[in-house]
Amino acid sequence: MIKAPDSKTSRSIKCSICRSGIKDLRTMYQSSLKLGVICKVCRERFSEEDIEMIVNLFFAFGGYFGQFDKSDFSMDETIFEFAEKLSAGNSTFHAQNVKMWHKILTHGIVPKEFLEELSVIAEQE
Ligand SMILES: [Zn+2]
Repeated sequence: MIKAPDSKTSRSIKCSICRSGIKDLRTMYQSSLKLGVICKVCRERFSEEDIEMIVNLFFAFGGYFGQFDKSDFSMDETIFEFAEKLSAGNSTFHAQNVKMWHKILTHGIVPKEFLEELSVIAEQE
């Protein structure tokens, strides 16, 4: 499900990652690549390295953090899809990796959260 944009914040400056309106410009953070501005919440939930990666990803593929419902995301399905496409040999690891991260982020999952869950799955096998 795609969430409707908040009409009240549509005219203000928006965060390049989550698209929430930035009301207090003093709290805004500009990414070093100058592709966009980042809100205080995103600045706190992502590392500087993640921010660059995420801004680049949304710049290239569109979408935003939390665009889709988190409950629609399946960790197992995502990993399976990743492995399957990779073994089919028609895609590079990098291309699949980028696609996977785009999916993770548009479902509102922070990289740290995903990697933690991934390590839990890896330990079980
Ligand atoms: Zn944000």
